[in-house]
Amino acid sequence: MKLIDFSKHYPDEASCKAEFKLYRESQGVVCKKCTAKDQYWWLDSKEQYECKKCGCRMSLKSGTVMENSKLPYQFWFIAFHLMTSTKKTISAFELQRQIGLRYYEPIWAMMHKIRLVMSKRDDLYELTADVETDESYYSTRYIQEEDEFTGQKEKLKKGKGSQRKTSVLVMASQQRKMHSKLTKKRGASYSQPKHLKMKVVENGTSSEIKSTAQKNIDEEVSVKSDKAKAYPKAFKNFKKLEMFDMSTFDPGKILPWSSNAITNSKNLIKAMHHGVEEKYLQNYLNEFCYKYNRRYFGDKVFKRLLICAVTPVWF
Ligand SMILES: [Zn+2]
Repeated sequence: MKLIDFSKHYPDEASCKAEFKLYRESQGVVCKKCTAKDQYWWLDSKEQYECKKCGCRMSLKSGTVMENSKLPYQFWFIAFHLMTSTKKTISAFELQRQIGLRYYEPIWAMMHKIRLVMSKRDDLYELTADVETDESYYSTRYIQEEDEFTGQKEKLKKGKGSQRKTSVLVMASQQRKMHSKLTKKRGASYSQPKHLKMKVVENGTSSEIKSTAQKNIDEEVSVKSDKAKAYPKAFKNFKKLEMFDMSTFDPGKILPWSSNAITNSKNLIKAMHHGVEEKYLQNYLNEFCYKYNRRYFGDKVFKRLLICAVTPVWF
């Protein structure tokens, strides 16, 4: 959504709150206690829902991404807008500056909550077209813990298993398209990226890769990957597994969409967030994938995010 449209539709706190309520009710208000759906009265004076079945009362924010947040609705809406309308993303520091809030921490926490609901939405879907997979190591910051008796910081491991390199399994589905009859290449097909998932795999063992892949990829699709020891076991349940030795093949040609996603996400994280802590890397990848998977949605992506925001978070 363009800034001018955003400020026209959501000029103040009241307009943002009204839209949030409208969206929450359009998606169905679910009682937190007895899970009855759409069985409520809205108590205007208290600004609460009251369940007709069990009498439980809930605030407008209760059970949504905004639960326990003291930030105004308008701040959340500005975050939804800037996180979806910018081509890359916005840092928490920049958002704090734009909003003009004195404290950084609530803005930072708000953005991470938004990234979590983004992943909840994407996790509802499996990749259903042929998939490229690739593993990559992301540089992350790791806060060393001090020994409680000696006060010495724990040692970092070196190399592949280093605590400053976090392994990510990248899964990119692709679809075949035919060239138009009007071009010279008519009749020939080409591949196009479809959807993307990126998941941190802590140890990179075949059982961990297998369970991550099974949660995210439909078993009826073919998988293409580089030659790694763990893969034949990890991907054996899929329709077909093709492995390529990357010392002889160019990864950019064999696994173009996953290679692209790795390069772009690394550049973005480095440029916008200046290195991230290991435990938050998955959240940044969630945001990257959410936007990638909706890259053709245009202005609709803002309202799609609003749906994620009002959807009960306990499901
Ligand atoms: Zn109830």
